[in-house]
Amino acid sequence: MTTTLTMEKLSIKTENKFRTLITKQNYKKGEVICAIPSEDVRDKPNRYTVQIGHEKHTHVGKLAALNHSCDPNVILDTENMEMVAARDIEKGEELYFFYPSTEWQMDAPFICLCGSANCINVVAGARFLPLSTLERHYLNPHIREMMIELLNNTQHNLEKIKE
Ligand SMILES: [Zn+2]
Repeated sequence: MTTTLTMEKLSIKTENKFRTLITKQNYKKGEVICAIPSEDVRDKPNRYTVQIGHEKHTHVGKLAALNHSCDPNVILDTENMEMVAARDIEKGEELYFFYPSTEWQMDAPFICLCGSANCINVVAGARFLPLSTLERHYLNPHIREMMIELLNNTQHNLEKIKE
């Protein structure tokens, strides 16, 4: 099976309990790297899950070792359940994605030290980021939907205050 084969092209490196996901081959921008495994879907997030819907958080096997970057080299497309190269990637590179592209409100927020010029500093989920920041990134449909819901609620509350 292709999925299993491509998963073998990824390896997990552990250093001081800190895990990183490394690719053993090159990828071109837009290339599908592997399917996102979905095991044990829950309604609440934990630090190993990836959000794939409003109240749907899945364990993702090996991909739980993916770290966050504000300048990511992969995309997690939760609609097609695929991990895709966001740019050309070379063998030996660490893979990372932009956590708020899947996570609305994270269970374990942290301070980002990625060093990118566009670093968001506090990684806590999409709901804590301004639209101008989110718009620069690939966002999954459930994040877009929740963003629109939040904006509509805010508008609704503002109108109530005016009355
Ligand atoms: Zn950052």
